Amino acid sequence: MLITLTEAANRIKAANKILITSHVQPDGDAIGSTLATLLMLRALGKHAQVFIDDSVRKNLQALPHFEEIRRPVDGEKFDADLLLILDTSPDRIGNVRKLTDAPVLNVDHHVTNKNDSGDLYVEHEAAATCEIVYKLARELDAPISPDVATCLYTGLATDTGFFQFSNTRAETLAVASELIKCGVKPNFISEQMEKKSLAEVKGLAAALNSLEMFYDDKVAGMTIDYATAKTFDSTEGFIDEIRVIDTVDVAFLITERAPNLCRVSMRSKGVDVSQIANKLGGGGHIRAAGCTLKMPLTEAEKILVAAIGEAI
Ligand code: AMP
Ligand code: MN
Ligand code: MN
Repeated sequence: MLITLTEAANRIKAANKILITSHVQPDGDAIGSTLATLLMLRALGKHAQVFIDDSVRKNLQALPHFEEIRRPVDGEKFDADLLLILDTSPDRIGNVRKLTDAPVLNVDHHVTNKNDSGDLYVEHEAAATCEIVYKLARELDAPISPDVATCLYTGLATDTGFFQFSNTRAETLAVASELIKCGVKPNFISEQMEKKSLAEVKGLAAALNSLEMFYDDKVAGMTIDYATAKTFDSTEGFIDEIRVIDTVDVAFLITERAPNLCRVSMRSKGVDVSQIANKLGGGGHIRAAGCTLKMPLTEAEKILVAAIGEAI
């Protein structure tokens, strides 16, 4: 059921033991929004815990209180009266779903979120879930400590490509401005987020070597095979290197994360790539979307290129 922000805040006010989670393959918005919410809810006297069912890339481990995040173990249960799912629909939280049967409160900004298994507050215009969590904090009268602000700013910055993408609105910058007043050091966050390991930079070089162009150079794609992909854990930012090609509308990156398991990222300047991702079982936003294809890399590429061809 769709609810309002005030209703979402009321659900939180009424709960005492809150399990907070977000999507697998967590990004800055997933980690930033869950950690910020954890700190706020604890400051309000709630018993709260973050569980994420995946590893977290090293850059994001620099966020304050990162060590509080737990990964569910097999058969584990968590005593909660609310399951708060941020930045995704409930189908992408992995085994966190098995930790509790508590009612779901889902807060998200993805157009592809059609969750109807609980209460959903979704704001498509919000640049990041962190932007919504900031508004929730105001509704809840929760204090925004420098640590909370740092987490929220990270989600805003990473989901907007550091305030460059089309989802950057006046409101986004107004929230960022408030967060800086609350103690954020923007350069600290930028420096942490841009760090790459040597293996990642070499992986980027290999990815660029695989560049292929399709449909009169309107589509650019890169692939990373398993042998290369297993040497590093993040491809953050790789796709942006080919999105910039002047003729390109749609850019894609396919990473073979395990044999027959391909992670697809897409970026666009016009075409709605969330529709393409949705058709292939994934989701996302108009200009940034993704999906997972359980098949060999060459087959995944064929299917993806055909699906993009239909859309452009
Ligand atoms: P990425 O390319 O990983 O940065 O993802 C871009 C956008 O697509 C993000 O908003 C993701 O949440 C979304 N997305 C990526 N992969 C999937 C997937 N397998 N299912 C649903 N949404 C996805
Ligand atoms: Mn996310
Ligand atoms: Mn997000």
